[in-house]
Amino acid sequence: MRGIWQKAPLTSRLQFQIEARATGCGARAAVFRTLHNEVLTPLFMPVGTQATVKAQLPQTLEDAGSQILLANTYHLLLRPGLDVFRRMGGIHEFMSWKRSVLTDSGGYQIFSLPHSRSLTEEGAVFQSYTDGRPILLSPEASIGAQVAIGSDIMMALDQCVASTADEAVARAAMELTHRWAARSLAARGDSPQAIFAIAQGALFPELRRESALGLAGMDFDGFAIGGLAVGEGKSEREDICAFTAGLLPADKPRYLMGVGTPLDILEAVHRGVDMFDCIIPTQVAQRGGVFTSRGYLQLRRGVYKFSDEKLDPACSCPTCRRYSRAYLHHLTKTRETLGWQLLGKHNIHFYHQLMRDIRASILSDTFLALYREKRATLHEDDLDNPVLVQKPKKAKRQALGNYEIHTAWEGFSSIRHIHSGEIMHSRTPPMEEARRLYVEQSRLAERLREQEAGPLVIWDVGLGAGANAMAAVACHESGEKPVRGLHIVSFENDLDSLRLAFRNNDQFRYLRHSAPSAILKEGAWRSKTHPGLAWTLVPGDFSETAGTSPFAPDIIFYDMFSGKTNAGAWTPGAFRRLFAACRGRSVGLFTYTCSTAARVALLAAGFHVARGRGTGDKTETTIALTPEAVRADHELLAADWLEKWKRSSARFPADLSAAEQSAWEEVILGHPQFQHHGGG
Ligand SMILES: [Zn+2]
Repeated sequence: MRGIWQKAPLTSRLQFQIEARATGCGARAAVFRTLHNEVLTPLFMPVGTQATVKAQLPQTLEDAGSQILLANTYHLLLRPGLDVFRRMGGIHEFMSWKRSVLTDSGGYQIFSLPHSRSLTEEGAVFQSYTDGRPILLSPEASIGAQVAIGSDIMMALDQCVASTADEAVARAAMELTHRWAARSLAARGDSPQAIFAIAQGALFPELRRESALGLAGMDFDGFAIGGLAVGEGKSEREDICAFTAGLLPADKPRYLMGVGTPLDILEAVHRGVDMFDCIIPTQVAQRGGVFTSRGYLQLRRGVYKFSDEKLDPACSCPTCRRYSRAYLHHLTKTRETLGWQLLGKHNIHFYHQLMRDIRASILSDTFLALYREKRATLHEDDLDNPVLVQKPKKAKRQALGNYEIHTAWEGFSSIRHIHSGEIMHSRTPPMEEARRLYVEQSRLAERLREQEAGPLVIWDVGLGAGANAMAAVACHESGEKPVRGLHIVSFENDLDSLRLAFRNNDQFRYLRHSAPSAILKEGAWRSKTHPGLAWTLVPGDFSETAGTSPFAPDIIFYDMFSGKTNAGAWTPGAFRRLFAACRGRSVGLFTYTCSTAARVALLAAGFHVARGRGTGDKTETTIALTPEAVRADHELLAADWLEKWKRSSARFPADLSAAEQSAWEEVILGHPQFQHHGGG
C-alpha cells in the first residue's frame, strides 16, 4: 500500500520539502512555496473569514509574521460575491494582502449553518442569508469560487459530520467526500493554485484509515484532517489526529482544521501536523484574553488596574513595546475597539512566535525539550497573579462586566443586566421558572423516556446564568432509567452572567454541580454518572453561531433578553434562520414572552404559535412549533387572536415598508394555523 503515496506527484505545485524531523515524535519542519511567498512550517494561519482578520491591519499581520491567511469561501461568495473578486483581480488585490491565502471549501458552513436545504450527490443546495436565493455548492462550484477568489491553496469540498456521528453516517459522509474530492481535483484543471483534500471519518479509526489512504492515492498538494474540534474530547482528538497524520503522505503538508489553543497546536505538531488555523487569538482578545509566556491573562481582572508592566515580558510585539497592563485593562473594561485590536495584535504575535520557537527547536532537534517545557505552562492562568481561591466573603463581587446580582424582595437572587436593567427571572426563583416554563412545557421528562437511538437535543439559546440548562440537566439526572441521551447546546455571547452567578453559588445553589464549572473552564461537559448526558457551549452571537452546532434541535429554550435590550434576537429574520435550522423536524420552541411582535415574527417565519403557561407576573408565554410538532393539546392562537391583531396599532415591526407590510399581512392571514381554526 505504501507505494501509492510514496510515488512522486505528477504535478507538485507547492514543492514541499522537509528540512528536519524531531527525534522521538512526529514533529517536522518544512518549507514550501505558494504563488505568493515561501512558507515555513509548522505555521499558524490567522482567520480572515470576511477577507479581514478581525480588527487587524494587513500590515500588522505581515509584521507579526503571518505567512498565510484563511478566508471563507462560503461567506465571500455570498458577500461581496465572486464578480467583485473577478473585477478586482482576486482577494490579494482586494484586501491588499501580498502573502498567501488559503480558502476553505464552504463544506463546513454548508453542513453547519441553518440555511442548508438539501444534500445530493451533485452538491448541497442552500439558501443565501443575504437575499434568500437558492445556491448550489457542488465540488465544481466551490472550486470555481475559489479560483475566482484567487487563493493560493484551495480546499476540496467535503461533507463534515459531527465527530460523534454514528458509523453508518460517518461512512456515507466519508465516501461522498472522496467522490467530491476527485471531482474537485478535476475541476481545478490546470489552475496554478494548489488544492488540499480533507480526510474525514469521525472517531472511527477504520474510517480514518480508509479516508487517509483513499485520498492519499489522489494527486493533491496537501491533506487536511477534518471533522475534528466539532464535539469530541481533547484526548479523542489527539488520538485521531496522531493516527490520521501517520497515515497521510509524508511528503505533503498536513493541516489540522480549526485547531486550536496554543497547547492544542503544540500537541498536534508533536503528532506530525504542519498547518493550523483558528479564530481563538482574535476572539479571546475581544473579551480581554491574552496568551503570554507567564500564562493566560484576563485583562478585566482588577489586579491589572495599576500595573505598569508589559503584557508579556518576553514579547516584542507592538502592544508589549508600548502599552501597560493598566491601560489595556482600562480599554478592556470600557470595551474600546482599540483594546480588542491591541490584544489581538499581541495574541497573533504570540501564536506566530510559538510557531517560530517550535520550528527552531525542530531544526536543532530540541523539540521534545521545548514540548515538555511549554506543555507545563501553556494552559496555565496568570502565574504571577493567581486568582485567589479563598476569598473573604465580603470581598465577593456582586457585579461582573455588564451584570450584577439582584435580590428580589421574596429573598431569591437573580442576575440583572446593568445597562438595560432587565432581570432574568425577576418574579420567580430562576430554577423554578426554568422548570415550569421550559422543562415541563417541553415535556422533557416524558421525551427522555422515548425509545430513540440518538440523544434528544436541546438548543439553550441565551445561556444566561445557566438556570434553564441546569433544570434540563436535573431533569435527566432524576429520570427513571433507562433514559434517553440528552445533549444540551447552549448559545451565549457573554459568559459574565454565568461567571458571576457561579462565583456566588451560595445564592445560586443550582450551580453547585460539576457541569457549570466545566462549561466555564472548557466549554463542554459530559456526565460521568449519567451516560449520554452532555452539555456544550457555543460562544458568540447566536445570529452567527446558530449554524455551527452539528446537532439539529428537538427542543429550543429561547431565553434571550427582550427586544428592547436585544432587538436582533426577535426579528423575523432571526426566527427564519431558526426555522431553517429545524430542518423539517418536529421541534418545539419555548419562550417567556407573549408579545404580539414576537408572535407575529414567529408566525411569519413559518412556525405555528401557541399559548404557553403563565409564570411570575406574566399571564401567558409563547410556544412555537414546526408544523410537524403541532399536537391536539396545544392551544394554538386562533381567530380571536387574529381579530385582535388586525385591530392592533403595532401590527408590524417598526421598520417595515408599506409593501413589506402588505406581504406580511398576507402571510399571517394565510397562515395554515388560522385556516384550520378560523375556517368556520
Ligand atoms: Zn506582545
